[in-house]
Amino acid sequence: MIIYLDGEFVPKERAVVSVFDHGLLYGDGVFEGIRAYHNRVFKLREHLDRLYDSARTIALEVPLTKDEMQEIVLETMRRNNLREGYIRLVITRGVGDLGLDPRKCKKPTIFCIAASIQLYPDELYEKGLEVITVSTRRNIPSAVNPRVKSLNYLNNIFAKLEANLVGVPEAIMLNNENYVAEATGDNIFIVKNGVLITPPNYVGILEGITRNTVIDIARQRGITVEEKVFTLFDVYTADECFFTGTAAEVIPVVKVDGRPIADGKPGEMTWELIAAFRELTKVDGPLIFPEEAAGCYS
Ligand code: PMP
Repeated sequence: MIIYLDGEFVPKERAVVSVFDHGLLYGDGVFEGIRAYHNRVFKLREHLDRLYDSARTIALEVPLTKDEMQEIVLETMRRNNLREGYIRLVITRGVGDLGLDPRKCKKPTIFCIAASIQLYPDELYEKGLEVITVSTRRNIPSAVNPRVKSLNYLNNIFAKLEANLVGVPEAIMLNNENYVAEATGDNIFIVKNGVLITPPNYVGILEGITRNTVIDIARQRGITVEEKVFTLFDVYTADECFFTGTAAEVIPVVKVDGRPIADGKPGEMTWELIAAFRELTKVDGPLIFPEEAAGCYS
């Protein structure tokens, strides 16, 4: 496995970061999880935009342009001979001293890892997930804003620990006002009377690229989409429920806190959106090996 680290492509064994890196010491940094399908990096521009917005919010100046960063991602895939997989792109504040002060960190650490993945077995996409709501509340936006995809994931890890305790793969997190926010690594959607509903940003969520993609797909198909707050009551009484995320893609949720959603089977609209999402992954994003694109012979 070849990793991009600070300007070089190095074997995994040499891809090491200092113990004085503030990404490690304080979670001071930002990242993206990106997917590649069919020789293309899906929604790469959107991921780079979010990465740079996250960096700007934590006042971290990225010493590379988005075009340069895009090339790093594509080249990491090429060096690993991958046409699909999961990409982790990370920018930390860099090496500093043991104090908090970011001014001590002179240069961000940047690395990119590309690997093969499948988060859930195929069977779970057919059957749907059983999940619970956890007691850990999502970070309030006025403290660590969930819109910033920072290396500070302890809030989500607490929720994951609770899910692990009862043996379910994901957990729904509420915000501090008891509105439904998101899952530990996914956004949530419900369907009620033909309307697709998902929490708005201000509830305190990561604005998922998959979430936005599904909203676009749904609107293109004439489905009414509402970004509005809702509670667990609305989840329990929904006609359908699903999660979206780069790793999970679009995955049905069929039971929440022991209550089956509708008949306890993935719903029609969920299937429709899964199929449309999968179609889009065939055509969206820059090519990794352009010479292999259909109709391009050299
Ligand atoms: N919420 C959280 C907390 C996440 O970590 C993720 C995964 N990045 C998502 C939502 C889904 O976002 P995306 O669709 O951009 O992967």
